[in-house]
Amino acid sequence: MRKPFIGGNWKMNTDSKAAVQLAKDVAQKCAGLLDKVDVSVCPPFVYLASVKNAIGSAKLGLGAQNVYFEAKGAFTGEISCSMLKDLGCKDVIIGHSERRHVIGESNELINKKLIAAIDAGLLPIFCVGELIEERKAGKTDSVVKEQIQKGLAGITVEKAKAITIAYEPVWAIGTGLTATPQQAQDVHLMIRQLIADMYNKEFAAQIRIQYGGSANAGNAAVLMSQPDVDGLLVGGASLKADDFAAMIKAAAEAKK
Ligand code: PEP
Repeated sequence: MRKPFIGGNWKMNTDSKAAVQLAKDVAQKCAGLLDKVDVSVCPPFVYLASVKNAIGSAKLGLGAQNVYFEAKGAFTGEISCSMLKDLGCKDVIIGHSERRHVIGESNELINKKLIAAIDAGLLPIFCVGELIEERKAGKTDSVVKEQIQKGLAGITVEKAKAITIAYEPVWAIGTGLTATPQQAQDVHLMIRQLIADMYNKEFAAQIRIQYGGSANAGNAAVLMSQPDVDGLLVGGASLKADDFAAMIKAAAEAKK
């Protein structure tokens, strides 16, 4: 049985006061659920330390939204894996669609980041997903396959155990257009079969695959009821503690 995993991607939102308050509210509202569901919040870099402090001893995980693959040196504006570890991060989002399509990150760069993060002891949330024109052209599976094959290039099964995959159709992120539960399930199953081909069936049965894209308190239960949907990566709805807590509860219920 795969333990559900819900991540909150705060993106470039909150300020120092709001970030601390949100972290405290989430920790308090989901306190009774953290044995059943893994939950991480991913604030902007600049609030990681204060959010870690606000979380205190709660079992809530802390994640970053990005990382650079080099260990140190002349990389102005970048943040290393050891810096994230130093601040108490457990997870790191890698390959989010906004980094692929707004900032221009390639599959090759994402691969380097995944390798560096795993080697540093971080747990990557590795995002993949197709554009609307790719879906309309029937290319969803081939696009997602290529992202996964190139992203995981050279990563052994032992190392890949650190990874959660997040299937996030780009057309569903921040748009209010959620994939139907069946659309999500179809791609999740395809990903699991791909992982079985690339690695082995046992690992494919273990790896967690989150869905992301306008998931909210209203649709979390039906998305989580799909057999290959093991969690959610949540943007907008993770900024509202009540909604985020409701989604965590829905995940716990769906997988009991
Ligand atoms: C995300 O940022 O990963 C995301 C899924 O955003 P939203 O839930 O707002 O669509």
